[in-house]
Amino acid sequence: MIETDVCIIGAGPGGAAAALRLAQLGIPSVLIDKAQFPRDKVCGDGLTGRTVAILNRIDPDIVRTLEKSPIQADSWGVTFSMDNKREFPVPFRKDYKKGDDSTPCFVSKRIHFDNHLIDMVRKQPLIQLFEGKSIEKHDYTVQKTPSGEDVGVWTVSDKKSDFQVRAKILIVASGPLSPFMRHVANIKVDPKHNAGAVRAYYKNVKGCHKDNFIELHFLKDHLPGYFWIFPLPNGEANVGFGMLTETISKRKVNLEKSLLDIIQNRPGIKERFAEAELDGKIVGFPLPLGSKRHQLSGDGYMLVGDSASLVDPLTGEGIGNAVYSGYIAADQAEKCLKAQNFSKEFMKDYDVRVWRVMGTELNLSYRLQRIGKYPSVFNFVLWVASRNVQISELVYAMFNNIDVRKKVLNPVFWFKMVINAK
Ligand SMILES: Cc1cc2nc3c(=O)[nH]c(=O)nc-3n(C[C@H](O)[C@H](O)[C@H](O)COP(=O)(O)OP(=O)(O)OC[C@H]3O[C@@H](n4cnc5c(N)ncnc54)[C@H](O)[C@@H]3O)c2cc1C
Repeated sequence: MIETDVCIIGAGPGGAAAALRLAQLGIPSVLIDKAQFPRDKVCGDGLTGRTVAILNRIDPDIVRTLEKSPIQADSWGVTFSMDNKREFPVPFRKDYKKGDDSTPCFVSKRIHFDNHLIDMVRKQPLIQLFEGKSIEKHDYTVQKTPSGEDVGVWTVSDKKSDFQVRAKILIVASGPLSPFMRHVANIKVDPKHNAGAVRAYYKNVKGCHKDNFIELHFLKDHLPGYFWIFPLPNGEANVGFGMLTETISKRKVNLEKSLLDIIQNRPGIKERFAEAELDGKIVGFPLPLGSKRHQLSGDGYMLVGDSASLVDPLTGEGIGNAVYSGYIAADQAEKCLKAQNFSKEFMKDYDVRVWRVMGTELNLSYRLQRIGKYPSVFNFVLWVASRNVQISELVYAMFNNIDVRKKVLNPVFWFKMVINAK
């Protein structure tokens, strides 16, 4: 039996960030994953501003070494496209200079990026990493301290071996499908607040931007949802398609077939894939969206990243919020240990801080996502956007900045933009 104050289940970006932040605070932890690293994770592989900012807060070396590493393609902008008729490239920074400016966004296969974080974990003597241990059982018991007080303790175990960890605090970062979610947190999948997506790796996709702009394609008969091409190093690209689960069920959409249909038949896209080669299989995974608030903590535990359903409902980004929630969970663990209070009432501060920093943004993203249900409105938005020079910066900012998202939801803003459209 391993005894620790803090045990983290899941060593993806959320769990690794929590462990690294705890180490930065001088707190030891046990970090467990069912997989052996390097391991793959189905994703678009896009690491945007929030991920970079929080990793920099934990240790600037994480980003510095990633920047120099051949595992990533540095991406300097995003191209929005509506049915391939209107293209709308938006640099992440105005008048950027590659080489002089720090990289705003990375695209890196998760098999490499997550392993990069694990390399950082391995360098930390305060983190005990256990791989290949699948936590299936979680028992919460209340014990008496020598001074007669009641203290709750979690014991988690791997069913297949005698591996057991006892901890005062559990940080659960094991994604949306793990046993903790079913048996303890009791969070049910709500199709209105979940998305499904598939991704594939292709070699030799033609016509990618020279500065690796990521591409989001909104295709009339596939709304709400989008097709993406994210350029990777070595002439590869992460290509995918995702949609709200509710729509997938209602329309009986087969995501894999839709992806292949777009690649093989859609004018403007099929030409770019004429000589492309699929590398591996097309694979899918759910995205638990942050458009519905769940309870994020309880007696002695906190949920982080996808376990907490924190994926942005507009962009599908979840790595940034996973890393950020891991960071906040570590801070909360420090507070609990100082106060020796692990009760659900005390843990509630975690929920409060997460919703304070992410709540408004997730809410606004949800409202914008709902616009996507109406193709004509969406088409109109892109039509205005593609004809207005000023708006190009605003639209990228919309993906990154809450104030701009608020502005975009204001009808007066659109009135002004239509007036200015040339
Ligand atoms: C198709 C697709 C495309 C996406 N594209 C993007 C994108 O481009 N950018 C972006 O920011 N986000 C994207 N996302 C979302 C992003 O992948 C997730 O939000 C992110 O991985 C969440 O990180 P996490 O650490 O919470 O969970 P994960 O990365 O899922 O890590 C969970 C870890 O827990 C481990 N685990 C699970 N169960 C157990 C258990 N019982 N015991 C021990 N360990 C366990 C797993 O092995 C895994 O290592 C995409 C998602 C999908 C499905």
